[in-house]
Formats: sequence, structure tokens, C-alpha cells
Amino acid sequence: MMDWVMGAYGGIKTATDITQSMLTLKTDAAVTTKVIELNGVLLGLQGQLNNAHTEHTALASRIRDLESEVAQFKRWEEEKGRYQLHQFPLGALAYCIKPEMQGTEPLHYLCSNCYQKTVKSLLQACEDGWYKALKCHHCDSLIRTEKIPDSGPNFAFFDNNGGAF
Ligand SMILES: [Zn+2]
Repeated sequence: MMDWVMGAYGGIKTATDITQSMLTLKTDAAVTTKVIELNGVLLGLQGQLNNAHTEHTALASRIRDLESEVAQFKRWEEEKGRYQLHQFPLGALAYCIKPEMQGTEPLHYLCSNCYQKTVKSLLQACEDGWYKALKCHHCDSLIRTEKIPDSGPNFAFFDNNGGAF
């Protein structure tokens, strides 16, 4: 990754040696030969600097991305602390806003599936057959929360995620 640094130091040393040796040259032809050699070394240094610039740009971009991820992670850590796991009568789980954190917000739930993936996704009320349900519009999960009174048989099954079906 940092090969360009060693290359640049090597190029500078070579250029310095060439200029030192030019002081002792006696003929124009010998000077011309050394100038050509020096130009080659300088072109090499230019290439090393271009590599350094490219690498610096990539690293700066990566640092910005990581800083953004860290900030997002910190925001989520604060936000997720406002919720607690809640189990509905049919057994399904969701994260519910803690009463002391609710403030003026209406009672609401977060999708437990998305919560585990650090995504805040509010569940929206709906119905699913004979059941009241909550749907996540981010991951499409649907959890049944309670049976609608006077509707259908009185039992429920659960999938592996705790959602009733
Ligand atoms: Zn979800």
C-alpha cells in the first residue's frame, strides 16, 4: 500500500546521486546522458506522487464513510434505548416505546426483525383475516397482535419469528 513512499525515497536518492555526479562531468555528451537519466528519475517520482494522491483520496473517502457509519451507529444506540421488547397476547414480539420516553408521541411499535438490523421501522396497524395485526413496510413482516372479537376459530399458530399466522 505504501510502496510509493519507498519508491519516492529511492527516486530522490537516485536524483541526488545523479546531480552530484554531474558536477564532475567533463563533456557535453556525458552531461546529456546524465540529464536524460535524471529526467527518467523525475518522471518516476511524478508517478509515485500520482499514486500517493490516488491513495490519499481513497483513504480520505474511506475515513468519511467510516465516520458516517460511526455517527449513524451512535444515533441508533441512543434511539434504541427508547424502546423495550413487548410481547403481544398471541406471542408475537415487537419493540414498544417506553412510557417514560413516549412524550407527545402516540404509542407505537418497532419491527423486531428490523430492530436487530439497526433499522428503525415503525409497525403500521392493519388486519389479517380474523386478527388485528401490525405490518412492517420495510421488511414486509406481519405480526398478529390479537383476535378480532366474534371472528373465526379461537387459535393461532406461530412461525419461527414469533409471528402468528
Ligand atoms: Zn421490519
